[in-house]
Amino acid sequence: MEEHTSSTINLQPSTVWAALASVPDPEIPVVSITDMGMVRDVTVSDAGRVTVTFTPTFSGCPALHVIRDSIEQAVRDLGVTDIEVKSTLTPPWTTDWIGDDARERLRQYGIAPPAPTGEGQLIQLDAEPTRCPRCGSLNVRMTASFGPTLCKRMYVCDACREPFEGFKSL
Ligand SMILES: [Zn+2]
Repeated sequence: MEEHTSSTINLQPSTVWAALASVPDPEIPVVSITDMGMVRDVTVSDAGRVTVTFTPTFSGCPALHVIRDSIEQAVRDLGVTDIEVKSTLTPPWTTDWIGDDARERLRQYGIAPPAPTGEGQLIQLDAEPTRCPRCGSLNVRMTASFGPTLCKRMYVCDACREPFEGFKSL
């Protein structure tokens, strides 16, 4: 499209959401940022300005600027020129925001999906046993509190000897 006008573009927030659904999580390419529940709000102003508000999965994740750039690019690809990408830490991201479908893909990818934190706020840490995503054994050991990023824990399965990553359940 070579037509450029300064008038408003007829863009629906749902179109932006759909575009963002194709933005992969920078660390886990099998899920998108919307799968992970990172995108909190999309607004389109009368003047055509698109504002996307997102919450990073973990504040310690180094991929923040990658996510920001990816969001901006996805919106730009819709023909939008006036884009604002904001991040917010309140409320903080929780693993409960991960969609059911995404949990299954995480498991198939070899990452133990986080247990829903549910109601027990005080006992959520390790309240649910971690299963080996490969063989399903509960006979797993945590080998490091933090994986390559602050987001994950490293485990090894004593049943099949497979090392794997698990999310910290927040
Ligand atoms: Zn195993």
